[in-house]
Amino acid sequence: MLTLLDDTTLVYRMLIGLGGLCERGVSFFHLKSPTTQVDARSSARSISSLATIRLKLTLQTSIKLHSKLEMGYLKLTFVVTTDASLYGIGAMLQQDDDDGLRPLEFYNKRMPSHKVVASTYMRELYALREALDHWKHYLLGRPFKVFSDHETLKWVQAQNNPSTTLTRWLHEIALYDFELKHKKGCYNRVADALSRHPEYMTCLMGSYDLRKNLKEELVEYIAKDPELSPILEQIQFDPSNQPDFHECKGLLFRRYGKYDRLCVPNHEPIRTHFLDLAHGWSGHFGFEKTYESLLQKFVWPGMKEMARKFVAECEVCQRIKPSRQKSYGLLHPLPIPDGPGESHSIDFTDMGKKSRNGYSQVMVIIDCFSKFLNLIPLPPHAPTDLVIKEFHKRYIMQCGPPKTLMSDRDTRFISADWKDFTYQNYDIKLKMTSDRHPEANGLVEEVNQTVIQLL
Ligand SMILES: [Zn+2]
Repeated sequence: MLTLLDDTTLVYRMLIGLGGLCERGVSFFHLKSPTTQVDARSSARSISSLATIRLKLTLQTSIKLHSKLEMGYLKLTFVVTTDASLYGIGAMLQQDDDDGLRPLEFYNKRMPSHKVVASTYMRELYALREALDHWKHYLLGRPFKVFSDHETLKWVQAQNNPSTTLTRWLHEIALYDFELKHKKGCYNRVADALSRHPEYMTCLMGSYDLRKNLKEELVEYIAKDPELSPILEQIQFDPSNQPDFHECKGLLFRRYGKYDRLCVPNHEPIRTHFLDLAHGWSGHFGFEKTYESLLQKFVWPGMKEMARKFVAECEVCQRIKPSRQKSYGLLHPLPIPDGPGESHSIDFTDMGKKSRNGYSQVMVIIDCFSKFLNLIPLPPHAPTDLVIKEFHKRYIMQCGPPKTLMSDRDTRFISADWKDFTYQNYDIKLKMTSDRHPEANGLVEEVNQTVIQLL
């Protein structure tokens, strides 16, 4: 269950978990008794008090442990466990001495900012490379095992066309003789804990650093929210009324399968704060990743659209992410025809009203050289075959076919019938302006205005 915890409690828990594992390496450490009561079911308050005791013990142990972590025995097989997160990498060196795996050394390092944007695969590989390099005095020249929680690393050696960086890393890693084994994230707790920043464990917990009163604000605004407050009241009266929801210290959670998501009240600063955590604090990834990260923890109506807008309007993203749109070409003026009858412009103008004969559209044809204008009336929504018929009867039969015909991308001008008629019958070359750029054919647009004005 997702609960709001004080971030120091989280740090305690991480240290407790880590300390618990370290105890395996220290035989004389028997200070477990006050700490075994600390588990996930304890309340946050009781954890805090117990965890304080445990933390002190763990820290004392860690200090003793530092001198007690033994040197590796070169005859035993080494086991390296690695993990990577957005914030850092974590690794552990162990040896199997017939009494389970005994930790020898721990290693963690901050993830360089340029690696953060790399794929998970690259981050995991980076963690592996750094760990191997750190313990090369133990590992070079002898077989050992590597556990990692990212399954794709298993195919690391069978890459087709790897990038330059990847090739270099693979060459460095190829110096070692190891067997790569997948270890599920849930069993990879130590490396996991070493690689993760406490603020990243959950958005909620991390947020306490900045806004100590966030929980109080949430409780206050959930109680005021017109949609959430009735649900909260119903649950407090009888929890079976709302089986999809549950309440915890004034906060409302909605069940989605195994997971619970916090119902965020309709209060702009709180929602923006969570959006900022999922986007700005998590590395300014695109909409998909931001929304995915939000979906794991929160729910509110219109969250998707709000996230999309937030990402699109993010100032940092706009500043640092270059546009990959291919640059537009230069605008070229239309060629000047050599004489009359060579180049014509054609367009439709809607009059917005019907004439007595039932016409409402005008086909405007203009000679680009002599500016000779021909107007052909058409009924509303004239189909292509009628346009062809009228153009043939009232224009070509009287003025002759032009060499080129300039038009916009009206559906009738891009239809196969129109192309067949102009090209096959009269060998007219069709030229079309770009979409939504009527200014490219300025002459005919100008005439359209005048026609509308006169009629
Ligand atoms: Zn951004």
